Amino acid sequence: MTTFLLEREDFPALLKTLTDAGYQVIAPTVREGAIVYDEIESIAELPIGYHDEQEAAFYRLHPTKDKALFSYVVGPQSWKRFLHPPEVRLWQAKRVEGGMEIVPNTQAVPRYAFVGVRACELHAIAIQDKIFMQGEFVDPIYQARREAALIVAVNCGVAGGTCFCASMHTGPQVTSGFDLALTEVLEDGRHYFVVEVGSDTGKELWKDVPHRKAKPEEAAAAQHIIEHTAAHMGRELDIDGLPEIITRKIESPRWETIAQTCLACANCTMVCPTCFCNTIEDVTDLTGGSAERIRKWDSCFTMDFSYIHGGSVRYSTKARYRQWLTHKLATWVEQFGTLGCVGCGRCITWCPVAIDITAEAAAIRQSDDGKGK
Ligand code: SF4
Ligand code: SF4
Repeated sequence: MTTFLLEREDFPALLKTLTDAGYQVIAPTVREGAIVYDEIESIAELPIGYHDEQEAAFYRLHPTKDKALFSYVVGPQSWKRFLHPPEVRLWQAKRVEGGMEIVPNTQAVPRYAFVGVRACELHAIAIQDKIFMQGEFVDPIYQARREAALIVAVNCGVAGGTCFCASMHTGPQVTSGFDLALTEVLEDGRHYFVVEVGSDTGKELWKDVPHRKAKPEEAAAAQHIIEHTAAHMGRELDIDGLPEIITRKIESPRWETIAQTCLACANCTMVCPTCFCNTIEDVTDLTGGSAERIRKWDSCFTMDFSYIHGGSVRYSTKARYRQWLTHKLATWVEQFGTLGCVGCGRCITWCPVAIDITAEAAAIRQSDDGKGK
């Protein structure tokens, strides 16, 4: 594939091209000591010169000496919050003489340009595409936002302490699903990006950004960075035969052990870029003049989520943790044809009691004698 070269000083021209084309640019920025995704208007709002340190239940940002734009990995948020928002109104009605009338939704569909999307996140988006757009029932809210979105991906130049995308075959190199993909290179006093164009839309926009063809040594420098990242993952998860092992071990005592620690706080599901459970709330105003139906993120860790006929099907924390992990690493395959985990590490970093999905899966594997229990 032909690769191009974007000099660091021309990076603002890329952002300007996106905004001139009518996109709302969403990119990493720093808020309350963490990297979050939000609208930005200038390059100065990127986390320039920040590196993140991540471990189980640990997250810190540190300033670095260099002025890299993307020298960190993923934070607590994912792009899910823009494509599948945490709270969305499905419909609204108002009382009129003689009955009720549906209030038409006049909100325009946002046209997002996501800048800084990592390989694992592209895989997570592909998984959610399948869930929301490729089954019998299509979610029109997700579909409209997704089809309007543009993706500027970034190959990871560092691996986080809780990352394990290499063993999941979901990173750190972006391979598909992007409009433009950048690899940031800082070497020998130079700062530039090696760029791949991944779609016709990307090609059209790229014409307006100052660039030239990358020299072989520049493309090789970018490839070396990605390979170095792949070789320095914080964690790994052996997925060979894992769905079968986990399904066999459904009565393992390990589930009870983990339940002694798990708080059922649902953090892991909120930060996960593939989790998609929802709940519905109907709200009326006190005068009975209007009503609305709201869809909100929910979690298999809440008691109410499996509430039917006067009780919760998954009453214990053991049952809820087991449901979450078996869905992610086993039954998701039957349902959607892939694992439900992309190795981003968020659930490990943001679990307040340091529960680690890679360690739990390894413990289950280790106890497997091929017979179950
Ligand atoms: S595994 Fe951790 S983050 Fe998930 S519900 Fe349990 S305590 Fe919360
Ligand atoms: S299960 Fe954990 S590591 Fe896997 S995609 Fe979700 S948050 Fe990331």
